Amino acid sequence: MKFILTPELGRLAKWLRILGYDSVYFKESNFSSLPRSKSQTQSASYFERGLLIQTLREGRVVLTRNHRFLKKASSRALEIKSEKVKEQIKQVLKELNLKPQKHLMFSRCVICNEELKSIEKEKVKEKIPEYVYQTENDFLSCPVCQRIYWQGSHWGNVQRYLIEASS
Ligand SMILES: [Zn+2]
Repeated sequence: MKFILTPELGRLAKWLRILGYDSVYFKESNFSSLPRSKSQTQSASYFERGLLIQTLREGRVVLTRNHRFLKKASSRALEIKSEKVKEQIKQVLKELNLKPQKHLMFSRCVICNEELKSIEKEKVKEKIPEYVYQTENDFLSCPVCQRIYWQGSHWGNVQRYLIEASS
């Protein structure tokens, strides 16, 4: 399942990436190559049309709180009801019948949405705190932004949060 989220749902996008779902955050620049007039650039419907085009082209499901857009893309969109991110996660998992898969979690960059690649411990030595180097053995890196990820102690907190959100 792949998602596209409208700008008000940035935090939800990050959480879906933590869960391993391909989740893009819709930006107007994503479709800046489409032909348009100057007045269209400013209009909300142009924004909505661009979002719809990307949604269909990439086979995504829209997550939004934007009512105007919901009308246009209702068959491919889920209206997110709560403003609270934990409730949002809960709603997405429940309504789309998704179960968080442990092996998919932390497989994507939270910032770029890119799939992470394994990286040798020796190669990250200079980029991570000494105690992490001493205690962790498995590292992943983002091919785009080069961030280094490891499970570490925050793993338990994240898991607890997600269990609460999905129960
Ligand atoms: Zn990245």
